[in-house]
Amino acid sequence: MAAMGEGTTLFTGSGRLAVAQPHAAAAPATISPWGLLVGDGRIVWVGEPGDVPSEPDASEVVDLGSALVTPGLLDAHTHPLYAGDRSDEAASRLAGEPYTGGGILRTVVATRAAADDELVALARSRLIAELAAGTTAVECKSGYGLSTDEEVRALRLISRAADGLPIRVIRTFLGAHAVPAEAGSAREYAALVAEEMIPAVASEGLAEFCDVFCDRGFFSLEDAETVLGAARRAGLQLRMHADQLARTGAAELAVRLGVTSADHLEQLDGAGVAALAGSETVATLLPAPALVMRDHLPPARALLDAGVTVALASDANAGTFGGWGQMPLVIGLGATVLGMTVDESLIAATVGGAASLGLSLERGRFAPGLVADLVAWDAHHEGAFALQLGAVRPKRIWVGGREVELET
Ligand SMILES: [Zn+2]
Repeated sequence: MAAMGEGTTLFTGSGRLAVAQPHAAAAPATISPWGLLVGDGRIVWVGEPGDVPSEPDASEVVDLGSALVTPGLLDAHTHPLYAGDRSDEAASRLAGEPYTGGGILRTVVATRAAADDELVALARSRLIAELAAGTTAVECKSGYGLSTDEEVRALRLISRAADGLPIRVIRTFLGAHAVPAEAGSAREYAALVAEEMIPAVASEGLAEFCDVFCDRGFFSLEDAETVLGAARRAGLQLRMHADQLARTGAAELAVRLGVTSADHLEQLDGAGVAALAGSETVATLLPAPALVMRDHLPPARALLDAGVTVALASDANAGTFGGWGQMPLVIGLGATVLGMTVDESLIAATVGGAASLGLSLERGRFAPGLVADLVAWDAHHEGAFALQLGAVRPKRIWVGGREVELET
């Protein structure tokens, strides 16, 4: 991180500033030309340059010229703490072998065998890749440990991996990611997660969220409720892997439990869309693994038309999408394969991601009071995310008003 002025900074540009307000807001989606005043790491004012508050007393002025500028992206679903390589499994699956999820246990074996320092180095390089691609807040799940000691270790190592990096990390405990080989049954293991792991995680303050893989062959609706009920009592926020492999009714459970976000939803049907439409639960959609797995794509258009808050995230992980730092691609996929407009995709990766992580009052938009995370892209229009499909890169990034030194 380069040290910049501690006082007030006036950012200006002749290009497009994507303020990323939700569509329902009265404010325009973009301002051009634009000005943005930052003080103490927070946005003080945003608008047209002629309207800049008199005597802004900016100790520094940064002119970003014609570059497209957006809020920092939020990646609301990742699994960064693992060792091993499952590229061979992806190749086999694409050659016709069905996905059983058994591959998670391969990663568990490799991760348990890896030393702390190795896991920290791997996770840190993944977080740096995320940041370098314009993601300034990222959710990080455990879930390749599957025992109390290993899950606690994973969450501690996520914090170590993020130490000193200018990226906001939200930690999620995903002990119920798969049933470990040594467990008697999913039900028995869910009880262990609820009774032993969650109290251990919560007492050490190791996570903000608890997640569960509620799907065919993993955890039933009843198991998921056991886990999430215990998590709520322990003071954790809730999220779910829901309706990815089969339409189990996980989306309705997510709504009934009031979880912050239901993720995946590849198999969601009209009834599931209607259930989410009447709720506060965010639908976090993950087009990249759906493509890698040649799975159904989630019904993004129907969710948006029903008024559901939609987030886009990468789901970077060990076995179904291995791309780190790919949120620009994910925005492009939202607009090309999910039937969203480019504006909707960009909003889903900013405002939507913030809602998915409970950070709506902190990040995701250019509005007074929010943290000043800005990305100036090597593009002039947000349509580049679709046109260049993964090739748009940041030129300069600020987190909390401080410029991030990008490695070249
Ligand atoms: Zn996942």
